[in-house]
Amino acid sequence: MKPRAFILLLCLLLVVGIPHTGTAEQQKISIVTSLFPLYEFVRQVGGEAVNAKLLLPPGTEPHTWEPRPSDIIRISRSDIFIYMGPEMEPWVSDVLGSVDNDNLLVIEVLEDLENIRSGKEHSDPHLWLDLSYAVYVVDLITETLKAADAQNSDLFSRNSNRYKDLLMDLDRQFFSQLSTCKKKVFIYGGHSAFGHLARRYGLIQISVYGISPDSEPSPRQVAEIVRTIRKNGIQIVYFEDLVNPRLAQVIADETGATTAVLNPGGNLTTTLWKKGVTFISLMEGNLINLRKGLECE
Ligand SMILES: [Zn+2]
Repeated sequence: MKPRAFILLLCLLLVVGIPHTGTAEQQKISIVTSLFPLYEFVRQVGGEAVNAKLLLPPGTEPHTWEPRPSDIIRISRSDIFIYMGPEMEPWVSDVLGSVDNDNLLVIEVLEDLENIRSGKEHSDPHLWLDLSYAVYVVDLITETLKAADAQNSDLFSRNSNRYKDLLMDLDRQFFSQLSTCKKKVFIYGGHSAFGHLARRYGLIQISVYGISPDSEPSPRQVAEIVRTIRKNGIQIVYFEDLVNPRLAQVIADETGATTAVLNPGGNLTTTLWKKGVTFISLMEGNLINLRKGLECE
């Protein structure tokens, strides 16, 4: 090939090639999720075919976070916005009132899964901590993506089935590995996030804070927890890494217990985010630490 012809071909490739990739990127469905588990499920099911973004910056606590104007712009520019529900993200109704996108599809997970959680800890929005519910959330996301991008329907189904197999396998591991424990009660020096997990796997959660970590417990409640630890011979007090661990440490010091982390997974610390930690690896870490505290054989 003559040099001039080669240069012409190169130009042609550049002209044809660059707009093509740009268009492919623009054609991807753009999805914003409020919380880490939703982001992770969208990424697992959507793979390369979707453009997923997590709204909460790493290191922010989901219950006390408040959106900025730039977050409203991010949601406005997306095709789909997925969040849990008003119990988890009370700021959503205000934000949606300001969003400038008539075509935005909004998915409220707790509303869509209303039938499966009827009568079961209705006010607890941490549905993903029961892995059987996590599977339902993945199904909901899969159906949403298939409806939005029918061309990639088979890809979404394949990804979804593969990921649900991993979640169900982990669910079985939680059952089998927590079935041989000396203790059932665990003390959580964070907010009351593990109600669904406790019910699923036959455990009892006693948490220092309520369903959101922004209210301090009374001295009487703390004294009651200290009594429970002594009565049950509990050796580990759990803390969460997005909430100040001071109370967990005070209670552990008072009772001679040690501390270990249990991660509710709503969001990640900056360190965990940079490490690229997955939802499954977070839950595996929780299982390891629960087994230590519950003295499982
Ligand atoms: Zn929470």
